[in-house]
Amino acid sequence: MTTGYTETVNKLIDELAKLPGIGQKTAERLAFHILKSKPAEALELAQAISDVKTKIKQCKVCFNFSETELCPICLDTRRDKTRICVVEQPKDVIVLEKTGQCKWVYHVLGGHIAPLEGIEPDNLTIDKLVERVKAGGVEELIMATNPNLLGDGTSLYISSLLKSTGIKITRLARGLATGTTLEYASGKMLTDAITSRQPLE
Ligand SMILES: [Zn+2]
Repeated sequence: MTTGYTETVNKLIDELAKLPGIGQKTAERLAFHILKSKPAEALELAQAISDVKTKIKQCKVCFNFSETELCPICLDTRRDKTRICVVEQPKDVIVLEKTGQCKWVYHVLGGHIAPLEGIEPDNLTIDKLVERVKAGGVEELIMATNPNLLGDGTSLYISSLLKSTGIKITRLARGLATGTTLEYASGKMLTDAITSRQPLE
């Protein structure tokens, strides 16, 4: 709560300050910008926030964000559906797609296994991935979980579940620094990691 503002303005500042990377000062600046802006402009922002929470759901197949039952990538007939790239978060799909190297489809896990944070395999979409693979037609899983302890652990767990199927399981090459996240990798680094991916052991 900041003193000197009305309750309504305080509420806006408090909400803005909850956004990542926005401190109190920036939140105040943004709130005043919104206060000064034309009503139509400010309401458009409010509408966009509302739409993103009401219209966006998960793709039924890959669990990426989608406005339709199946996302545009799953619906794209030019995609190679025999190869599934497994990522932790929807934003990883965007990062990989930006390289222009990916003709495969995805599976978004919704995070990584982290028992200490109470995130067990059941909290992720791992069972749906296993179903997808066991339904047939998949030749390769490309594990693109983050190259850190929890991401690697998640990939190894999935690999152990699917070993008996005989499916090829690879992971992005380690041009990616261990301990990093895909989000912060450069396009060039990612492209190298994609083209020289290695079997996951
Ligand atoms: Zn999809």
